[in-house]
Amino acid sequence: MSKVYLDNAATTPLDEKVIDTMVEAMRLSYGNPSSTHSIGQEAKALIEGVRRQVADYLKVQPGEIIFTSCGTESNNMIIRGCVEHLGVERIITSPMEHKCVAETIRDMKARRNVEVVYLKPDRMGDIPLVQLEEALKNSEKKTLVSLMHANNEIGNLLDIKKVGDICAEHSALFHSDTVQTIGHLDLDFSEINIDFASCSAHKFHGPKGAGFAFIRKNSRLKPMFYGGSQERELRAGTENVCGIVGLGKAMEISMENLPEYQKKISEIKEYAISRLREAIPGIKFNGHSAESHSLYTVLSVLLPFSNPLIGLQLDMKGIAVSQGSACSSGAGKPSMVMLSILDAYEMEHCTPLRVSFSHQTTAEDIDRLASALKELYDEKPGNS
Ligand code: PLP
Repeated sequence: MSKVYLDNAATTPLDEKVIDTMVEAMRLSYGNPSSTHSIGQEAKALIEGVRRQVADYLKVQPGEIIFTSCGTESNNMIIRGCVEHLGVERIITSPMEHKCVAETIRDMKARRNVEVVYLKPDRMGDIPLVQLEEALKNSEKKTLVSLMHANNEIGNLLDIKKVGDICAEHSALFHSDTVQTIGHLDLDFSEINIDFASCSAHKFHGPKGAGFAFIRKNSRLKPMFYGGSQERELRAGTENVCGIVGLGKAMEISMENLPEYQKKISEIKEYAISRLREAIPGIKFNGHSAESHSLYTVLSVLLPFSNPLIGLQLDMKGIAVSQGSACSSGAGKPSMVMLSILDAYEMEHCTPLRVSFSHQTTAEDIDRLASALKELYDEKPGNS
């Protein structure tokens, strides 16, 4: 049975050209970038090339890009660093954040006594920005605002330009988890009052184990670990040269093909919405997921029946989707995002499902999903 992969918000398959570039780097550029001889410096030059390329894409300075192992590390480094080294005593965030942000903030509250303010999303999953303004007005404490750009479960997009302006007006630092948008949207950080952001290469057909943190110049952040002067003395440890090279190649391909990929994936998403509406009477879509101003790679579905085993059953039919996000799907309890936006009836009688696309997704993949879901729907007493 051929597999249908519709879990691209969890991770994306490596692009073949990325694999070739990485293999070549592994074979030829084996030097330690900290070595002063030419073999080491060749590896160093590859890293610096990718740093410039990423900086060009975001319209920032190369020195503001710090390579890390993933989005989780980048978010940890930023949030912890703000509290431990920049004197942040208060964090404003929301229950919609990815676990790697939410749990880091919880840890800072428990161990560092940081005050945490949770903004309350509305039924569509949006954070009303008046709440942010109110919260910023009401304290003299040094504050970090941490709000994600695109929600990984429902695809809602935050207006980071507006949020950045509000933060700047109140002298608050602004961090946005941009893991689901870097590589998928055209971003210009020279136009946005943003201090920190994060990226993960495996979300746009790059390798796992490679990412970066954007850290605005002169932020005075300090390293999380020590023992080397790599990455502007912010991340000690010999660099993952082939991972960084893979990130660079994946980003090059994404940016070169951005309009084409966006168009193709948006059309696939539209097709999925209409096929699923036809197949399942009463189906709904969470947040702004089915609207044009949401992230085009993510569709969050609310099935009108309860089936906690649906992920497993679809897997047995060869279809990979996510019940919630990958990081909470094994946990057997509803995600904070779903708890925030669904009512008690929906929580009990409906099933959320995240379908996420890439440029490799085909109409046949969507047809397979729609008929598999229809079969599961028809099996419910009274539905067929
Ligand atoms: N932030 C968001 C919004 C994500 O979707 C993810 C991954 O699912 C992460 C952070 C963590 O990224 P990584 O898998 O690179 O640690």
